[in-house]
Amino acid sequence: MNKVRVRFAPSPTGLLHIGGARTALFNWLYARHTGGTFVLRIEDTDQSRNTQEAVDVIFRGMRWLGLDWDEGPDGKGGIMGDKGPYFQSQRGPIYAKYLEKLQSTGKTYEDSGALKFRMPKTPGIVKDLVCGEVTFDRTTEPDLVIRRKDGSPVFHFVNVVDDLEMGITHVIRGEDHLTNTHKHIALYEALGAPLPQFAHIPLILNQGGSKMSKRDEGAALGFYEDAGYLPQAVRNYLCLLGWSPGAKEEILPIDEIVRRFELKDLNRSNARFDGLKLFWMNGEYWRSMKDEDFSNFSSDILAKNRPAAANLPQPLREGLLKIIREKVRTGKELVEWFDPYLTEEYEYSEESRKKQFSNPEAPQLLAALEKGFCEASDAMDEASAEAVCKQVAEAAGLPKPAKVIHLLRAAVSGRTVGPSLFALLVVLGKDRVKSRLVRTRQLLEAGKLGVTA
Ligand code: GLU
Repeated sequence: MNKVRVRFAPSPTGLLHIGGARTALFNWLYARHTGGTFVLRIEDTDQSRNTQEAVDVIFRGMRWLGLDWDEGPDGKGGIMGDKGPYFQSQRGPIYAKYLEKLQSTGKTYEDSGALKFRMPKTPGIVKDLVCGEVTFDRTTEPDLVIRRKDGSPVFHFVNVVDDLEMGITHVIRGEDHLTNTHKHIALYEALGAPLPQFAHIPLILNQGGSKMSKRDEGAALGFYEDAGYLPQAVRNYLCLLGWSPGAKEEILPIDEIVRRFELKDLNRSNARFDGLKLFWMNGEYWRSMKDEDFSNFSSDILAKNRPAAANLPQPLREGLLKIIREKVRTGKELVEWFDPYLTEEYEYSEESRKKQFSNPEAPQLLAALEKGFCEASDAMDEASAEAVCKQVAEAAGLPKPAKVIHLLRAAVSGRTVGPSLFALLVVLGKDRVKSRLVRTRQLLEAGKLGVTA
């Protein structure tokens, strides 16, 4: 068999749809599995939608997923091939040459300024590696416009010419293109060119069971980058949308998926996108991430979203990261959970006001906690922090320390949920805990922690 050459051929629309990302991924997997070549070709012939930003979204998404291409537009992450870069907008002369070639076969004709290709009326047979043999009735199929009145060549034509010119051996793309394929085959045949193999991968459906559209939440790959998902997790999840590793395996390192990825294992039935499952999978990757990788990931995401975190003393920042990591699953949650520690002027949530600071005993309990922490040993550990809470609860005649503990959390963080409390107190250190208690009590006494809504 010839060396495998596959391609991802996105049109720049302004976002990289989950379905497009999966098409890119499957092509990449097949190229890496077979030791073949992965080509990136930007199908940017529609000038009205063709902007640099729209192209950058594609590059960015592919780099985020780690899908490096071997030939195609150069840039970081891409390796300039001897034949790249591939932007259809730059290949006009090639299309003109092929138009001439097709015209010379006598299978085209001019019609009010446009050039049309005479579609054969015989049944169009597509032999597809995923869908099997599919036959299209062409008795009423209109002839195909291949060059518009304005002189620009049409998608079907340039798509075929490029696959031919680039020596593509396998066209792996979304099933929405299956109905185009018999037209493409007719063009190959008219040009006397050998056919590539076709593999049309099943559509991705939303929770409602219809084709996932760009209006569905989470339909754009960028959504997951913005939400601080781990690209390895998203990539793993996308692999399972239309391909199965067999057995009940789901979480697999990418090298292992590359090793196993065969086109014969592509599913025929449509894949349902399950955001909760992806969230779960992200959590699995999150938990098992190496400390060093977490450290890189978290510094990037903090630098981007909470630059003030850079001003925190390093032990505090590191300590917070460690205990917050245990309770969250995405980078977005991580940065949000960081907020109460970026400033000593932190805010108090509505819930903490309602549940904790509206308690009439709160000021005395806060004062008792202050006193307890003043008397406790300087180097606070979890056990001594817990002992302070118990002692304050007992002195107040409370049967259990829970009330004191919840109040303490609200006082030092302004929130009712957060990292494990005693670990948090140790990370904050005794001085910060005391000053936060004082601040909260004073605000409370000044009537500033009432319920606002
Ligand atoms: N530019 C086409 C699209 O984005 C790609 C078609 C193909 O993969 O052949 O749908």
